[in-house]
Amino acid sequence: MIIEPVITKDGTKIIPLSEGEFTIDSSKVMVPYNPETDNLADRPGSLLVEVTPFLVVNKKDVILLDAGLGYEIDGELQIHRTLRKHGYEPDDVTKVLVSHLHKDHAGGLMYKDKYNDPQPAFKNAVYFVHRQAFDYSMETGYPKYLTEEFEWLDSYNKVFWLTDEDGTIDNYIHYKVTNGHSPFHQVFWIEELNGRPIFFGADDAPQYKQMIKKFSAKYDYDGKRSMELRQEWWDAGKENHWTFLFYHDTRSAVFQCE
Ligand SMILES: [Zn+2]
Repeated sequence: MIIEPVITKDGTKIIPLSEGEFTIDSSKVMVPYNPETDNLADRPGSLLVEVTPFLVVNKKDVILLDAGLGYEIDGELQIHRTLRKHGYEPDDVTKVLVSHLHKDHAGGLMYKDKYNDPQPAFKNAVYFVHRQAFDYSMETGYPKYLTEEFEWLDSYNKVFWLTDEDGTIDNYIHYKVTNGHSPFHQVFWIEELNGRPIFFGADDAPQYKQMIKKFSAKYDYDGKRSMELRQEWWDAGKENHWTFLFYHDTRSAVFQCE
């Protein structure tokens, strides 16, 4: 499915890079789901989710927000293919902001070359990863984290390790560690000229319906905290005209508060 890009009032282009729909159950394996031929009733206990990394293009940067599953189609990373369909090359990306290292968000950060060596999927970009999230993922391991696939990040010279609870990148991108969905999970605000932030809450705020319906999710590390944060962000977003990016939303990946 191709979701059309959105242009904000400040002229920033937001491109949802949809990888399709998947079901996920307690085994944590993402199984592709085709709404035309599959039936959710055949997959009891499964949650239906979209996987949608975002490309945000402004005057300064080509920013990728999370990197998708890392699945390949005919030897090409799915996220590369989707980018190219929208007229961008992987090498155009200048920054990759990583919310957390669960495999549906970090799988597309790299691919394996013909010698089976890991290569960065966006070689001109600086990867912004939280150091403690990385250390935690290495300690926790499979099936939540693809430890082997990510070891290379540790010595990759284009990773900018974030170490603070919150801070600012290049004077206009703010990050904050929430510890909601997973330990050291972080969220991002990309500031726009008119002060209308583009907000990426990743798995603390994965779908529109979770913003309007109050509930604590079992799959979160700290469900209560995620729930409270959603409430806080939704109130602030409505007041200050945020644009929300929903990574797992099957319908409205980009939601602009008027
Ligand atoms: Zn996720």
